[in-house]
This record gives sequence, C-alpha cells and structure tokens, in this order.
Amino acid sequence: MGNGLVNTRDQQFVLFEQLGIEKLFTTDKFKDFSKDDVLMMHKEAEKMAVNVILPTYTEGDKEGCHLKDGKVSTPKIFKDAFQKFKEGGWMCPMESPDVGGQGIPIVVFTSYKELFAAANIAFLMYGGLTLGAAELIEKFGTEEQKNKYMYKMFAGEWCGTMCLTEPGAGTDVGSLKTAAKRLPDGTYSITGTKCFISAGDHDLAPNIIHPVLARIEGDPPGTAGISIFIVPKYKVNDDGSIGKLNDVHTGNVEHKMGLKGNATCTLNFGDEGKCVGELLGKEREGIKVMFQMMNAARLEVGMQGLGHASAAYEHAVQYAKERIQSTPVWEMKNPDAKSVSIIQHPDVRRDLMWMKSYVEGIRAMNYFAGYCMDMAKVAATKEEQEKWNGFVELLTPLCKAFSSDRGFDVCNKAIDVYGGYGYCQEYPVEQYLRDCKIASIYEGTNGIQSLDLVGRKLGQRKGANMMAMAGEIGQTVAKAKAIEDLKKYAGLLEDSSNALLELIMILAGAGKSGNFLVPILYASPFLDIFGDVLMGHFLLQAAVIAEEKLNAIYKEVGAENSKGKQRGLIRENAEVAFYAGKVASAKFFATEILPTIKGRCEAIKAGDKIALEVAEESFTI
Ligand SMILES: Cc1cc2nc3c(=O)[nH]c(=O)nc-3n(C[C@H](O)[C@H](O)[C@H](O)COP(=O)(O)OP(=O)(O)OC[C@H]3O[C@@H](n4cnc5c(N)ncnc54)[C@H](O)[C@@H]3O)c2cc1C
Repeated sequence: MGNGLVNTRDQQFVLFEQLGIEKLFTTDKFKDFSKDDVLMMHKEAEKMAVNVILPTYTEGDKEGCHLKDGKVSTPKIFKDAFQKFKEGGWMCPMESPDVGGQGIPIVVFTSYKELFAAANIAFLMYGGLTLGAAELIEKFGTEEQKNKYMYKMFAGEWCGTMCLTEPGAGTDVGSLKTAAKRLPDGTYSITGTKCFISAGDHDLAPNIIHPVLARIEGDPPGTAGISIFIVPKYKVNDDGSIGKLNDVHTGNVEHKMGLKGNATCTLNFGDEGKCVGELLGKEREGIKVMFQMMNAARLEVGMQGLGHASAAYEHAVQYAKERIQSTPVWEMKNPDAKSVSIIQHPDVRRDLMWMKSYVEGIRAMNYFAGYCMDMAKVAATKEEQEKWNGFVELLTPLCKAFSSDRGFDVCNKAIDVYGGYGYCQEYPVEQYLRDCKIASIYEGTNGIQSLDLVGRKLGQRKGANMMAMAGEIGQTVAKAKAIEDLKKYAGLLEDSSNALLELIMILAGAGKSGNFLVPILYASPFLDIFGDVLMGHFLLQAAVIAEEKLNAIYKEVGAENSKGKQRGLIRENAEVAFYAGKVASAKFFATEILPTIKGRCEAIKAGDKIALEVAEESFTI
C-alpha cells in the first residue's frame, strides 16, 4: 500500500536505475553520501509529507489566510507543522553545512520536494520562498548582509519572499514604479506597491525579508534601470534583534481560486516615507540578481505541477479500484452480469494510463534537471560543466510550463475518473485542480516560458544545448531499437524527434529571414511538442532499463518463454508489476501521443498567421 501521494518505488527507479545518481557519490563533493543515506532520508521525508504536511492540506484550504487589524494569519495547523518542518532540517538540506544545510545533491532534494509538494504546496511555499531569498543573499550579499539575514533565513527563523509584481507591472517587470532614493548612510528609501506577493505577510516567523525590485531615482526606464533591495518587514538592530516596523504594510490578502493556505499579499512599502532598503548586489543589476531566484523558482513550479499530478493520479487509481459501477462491456449481452470496479472500463483505464505516463515522464524530466545541476557542480572540465548547465537552461522553461500544464490536465482527468464525486469537496481532487492552476501563471506565465524557449533557449551556445539533448534522445532510440519488444516504439520516438528537429530548423530560418512572428505565434504549441518528445524519450529510456530487469527476473524463474507465466508473475510479484508498468507507460505514450507530433509540426510549418491577421473587431460582436 502506497502513501497515496507519490509512487516512491518510481522515485527510486528514476534516481538509481534511470539517472544512476550513485555516480555522484564517487565525487569529492558528494563522497559522504550513499544510496542507503538517500533511502533513509527518503523515509523521513515521506513521514514529514504524510504525517505533518498532509494534515494541513484540507484544513489549510478551508481556513485560509486572513488580514485583521493589519496582521495576517495563516491556518492554525500550519504553525506546528512549520516548526516540525524546520526542526526536521527540511528548510535547506542541499545547502552547504556552513550555512546550516547538509550538502545533499539537488536531485535527491528534488525527490523529497515532490513528496512535500504533493502533500501541500500552499504550506511548502513559505519555506521555498525563504530558501530562494536566502540563496540570493548568499550569492550577491555582503558579509554583513549574510550575517544579518541569511543564516536566520536558512534556519527558517525568519522567512522570505520575492517582490516583483505590481498592479501595472506583471509580465512587463520593466515598467515597475517602485522607487528607491539614496539616503546619506548608503541605504535607500523605498516607496511603492507590490501585489500578488506569495507568503508576503504571515505569522509563521517574527520577521520577513523581502527582496524588492525598484528603480533608483534618475536610473533609466525598462529592465536596465532596475535594482534589487533587501527590505525587512521589521528593521534589524545592530545586535541582530528585531527592531521597529520598517513601514511595510499589508494592504490586502487576495481571495484566490486555490492555494488558500498561502497568503498572497499586496504590500505597501514606505507609505509614511520610513521604509529603508539595502542594495543587494550592484545598482541597476536587479534583474540579473533576481533571475537566479526566478530560475530556481521556475524549476520549483515544475515540481508543483508534478506534485499535484502525482497525488491526483494516485488518488484516481485508488478510487477507480474501489468504485463499483456498471457491468463490463464484454458482458453486455449477459443480463446477470455483475457490476465491476470502474478501472475495468476501457475508457477509465485509458485515462489512467494517460495520467500514469505523463506523471512518470514529468517526474523523470524534473529529476533529470536536478541531476544536471549536480553534475555541473562536479564536472571535471569546463566543457562538461557547460554541457550540464546547458541542459538546465534548455529544460527550465519546459520543466516550468510543460509540468504545470500537463499537471493541471492530470488533475482534470482525475476529476473525470471520480465522476460527480470528483467535483465535490468530500474528495481531494477538486482542490488539486484549484491549487494546481496557478502554476501556469506565476513565475512568468507559460506563454512567456514558451517565448523564452523559442526566442532564447533553442539558440543558446549556438544551438549546442539543443543538439546535446537531441544526442540524448538519439541514444535512447538506439538502445530501444536493440530490444525486439521496443523496436517499434523506438521508431515512433525517432520519427517524432526528427520532426521536432526539422521544425526547429524551419523556425530558426524564419527568425533569421525576418519572419519572426511565426516562431512567436507558435511558441506555445512548439513547447508542447518539445515536451511530448521529451516525455517519449524519458519513458522509453526507462522502458529499456525495465525490460532488462524483467528479462533477468523471467530468466531466473524460467519464465522467459512463457507469456502465461509472465502474466502470473506480474500479478504475484510487485517488482515485476512495477517494471511491466514502466514498459507499458512507454509503449502507451509512444502509440497514443508520439504519432500526433508530425501533424502538429506540419501545422506550425504551414506558418499560417490567421490569429494575427484576424481583425480585433472580429473576435466578438
Ligand atoms: C497566487 C499568485 C501568487 C503570486 N506570487 C508572486 C510572488 O510571490 N511574487 C511576485 O512578484 N509575483 C507573484 N505573482 C504574480 C505573477 O507572477 C503574475 O500574475 C504573472 O507574472 C502575470 O502578470 P499579470 O498577472 O499582471 O498578467 P499580465 O502580465 O497582464 O498578462 C496577462 C496575459 O497576457 C500575456 N502577456 C503579457 N505580456 C505578453 C507578451 N509580451 N507576450 C505574450 N503574452 C503576453 C500573459 O502571458 C498572460 O497570458 C503571483 C500571482 C498569483 C496569482
């Protein structure tokens, strides 16, 4: 019986069998870790997710966050859970021990985070934003700033946020109005309003440290003139204790569709002219600095999509096994036929396979991104390091946008599996859908992610990152072709990968010849195509390994030539069932989704600009 949130067997498969993360433990940086350590911590992470975070899920949604007398309250149940989360050492386990972490590989933390995200994202974000803000100070702050803020943040004593958005400056951050004025002592007076700030104000920590984007008076318009400031909610005294309120006031807590346990706030800075900020990094380099946090946050959002999808899928499978409804289609002429569990109906089963294959593919993609970050850290040469960092660059918009969009689709299908009950609050899937939606919007909408992919990421390092990824896919195709049972599916991946590569060349050509509106117009469907090809790759890569394991088991028990014996083993032996399920995911995806790639590429290649050419007046009367 699983934990109802995440298939931990699949997590371990991706870590140890698919990615082979034990390679990391042979490097100097990670030499103190072993597979046993990772598994032991994994058990602890699972306990934290199931016993501490999960109980906050429904209650947090029902109670929500409230602003009263200028103070923001979070759901009561969050207080004790946050305390336990901190005490358990989950704030920053992949940070160096020098700052309070344990130095574990990012990919390992990624797998733990999936459990936490599946249990309650609204809760997890308080710690996640704090970690991101502390990392900014670690990288760009002075020693004084580190001593003043960073250590307390890594410990979870104080929390953090990221303050970019303003009512008139969402996607277009460069049009922000928040102003900074130099003060004689080298600090800055900050005035302005930020909106939609996640974990912007709350009662889980006595101080909140805001990294705030603002323009110093006289600096140029647009992103080039933006700087970033550390603005604490409460000023910090010389001895490190908390001083007076820093003229940061909460104007509102948004009433949202989901994620109700996370306080999304409007923050007013300097209404009384007394808000003081410290420059972080150099003047006019605010966007460069903030991009570190944004890139990390984009990967984090990908994990939200995965966490929700995983939990929704696990619930849907369980429900489909238990819910008895309708007689099976093959008994349609039998008046005495008994009703069966809905997992036996082909349409439900197909939906579940769709969900299973996307969950597993998205899991592998996000873990791979984490693994690449670790590999970049331990790379022996500059070329190696560039290769691994290149994968991270290329994958960031895909992890963010594809995981959140497909994650939402998985939640949507989970509701369908539940039928009418899925639409009601007695079951958790309606909350998964509500909570999940925001992931396609914040950290740069998915439309913006696709523009980043097409406009920047494909051509980075003169296309070397993309070619390296194509090389990975090629290796998977070659390995799968060598296995009789997978040959057909390898062909389907090869065809779709070739169609993608051809499309990329055409889009690049269009961009160079001045016809740049075509790649821009089709950026979103392009990202979906690319994501699907990657799913095909990761799933088939897994299937190759699973086939090898299955064949070894069949041989050991003398079942290699008997389909009947193999079917029996699948029912009796959980490991065999698991590996057979991995092969099925890859085959299902390859036959169900990959054949659509060519047609979708053709649609883009045609380059029609109907959506642009249609008159605005024609959209509606
Ligand atoms: C619950 C929640 C939490 C949030 N947390 C934070 C936070 O912690 N910190 C923070 O700073 N912000 C946060 N945000 C803000 C979020 O990042 C923005 O909502 C988002 O960036 C989009 O900005 P906008 O809402 O103003 O939409 P707009 O910028 O008005 O965009 C509306 C639509 O137009 C599209 N669009 C706009 N410009 C372009 C363009 N140039 N090309 C193509 N399409 C375009 C967008 O893709 C979108 O589809 C949060 C928002 C919510 C709802």
